[in-house]
Amino acid sequence: MSAPEGLRPAGTPATAPAAGGLVIEGLVRRFKGFTALDGVDLELPAGAIVGLVGPNGSGKTTLINVVSGVYAPSGGSVRLDGQEVGGLAPHRLVRLGLNRTFQVPKPFASLTVRENLAVAVGHSGRGAPLRPDILGEVGLEGLGGRLAGTLNASQQKRLDLARALATNPSVLLVDELGAGLATDELGELAHYLRTLADGGITLLVVEHLLGFLEQLTDTVVVLSAGRRIFAGSLRAAIADPEVVLVFLGG
Ligand code: ADP
Ligand code: MG
Repeated sequence: MSAPEGLRPAGTPATAPAAGGLVIEGLVRRFKGFTALDGVDLELPAGAIVGLVGPNGSGKTTLINVVSGVYAPSGGSVRLDGQEVGGLAPHRLVRLGLNRTFQVPKPFASLTVRENLAVAVGHSGRGAPLRPDILGEVGLEGLGGRLAGTLNASQQKRLDLARALATNPSVLLVDELGAGLATDELGELAHYLRTLADGGITLLVVEHLLGFLEQLTDTVVVLSAGRRIFAGSLRAAIADPEVVLVFLGG
């Protein structure tokens, strides 16, 4: 079996993506007595890449889970292209053009890579195949017939990205896709994500690795204990005393 190729620039999408502007205001999510998101504002202009950073447990994945419909918001609003979408089920959001990747991907292990993509496309209701070379794009060339359960961790992350892209999203929320990747893979991933944005996909990139984010965007939002403590340029973030404190002070 040959090793997968690196991530390659995306081809021209078969159809022009929808606009994809996302505005989150005062987002709250409580779990019993615990407040995981405490009134978070975040604006994702159509076509932009915005980084979402913060220490472990600061609420990054919870924000993705709420915005993608896994959890209902306890308060606040989420608007996609001006339409309130807070609390909609994941499949409804996918149909409206919003999808996400998972920090820990869970493919259907006993289905092949290609079958996993077919399931995603079938659920999306957004038509297919919109990206005919999606496996090549994400570096899974030649692995379409492999059982997903036999892929290594990096390949499962690539499949998860392909799964989300196969639904032709206009907004994609990416959860720590770079974690565990080697330096050269991170460079390829950053380049690939930029080609997606250039192709019209709006990206929220949750990432621990600031060096990786630096290759993608200068616009970041910083969370700490469920609150937004900073929004602005990455350069200003790393000079901000409160941001430095939550990253270094623990
Ligand atoms: P991050 O992705 O920034 O590391 P998370 O969003 O995963 O953080 O978690 C934020 C906080 O919310 C953590 O304290 C976590 O334990 C809590 N949390 C997340 N999901 C749940 C859940 N389903 N039930 C209870 N607590 C949760
Ligand atoms: Mg997380």
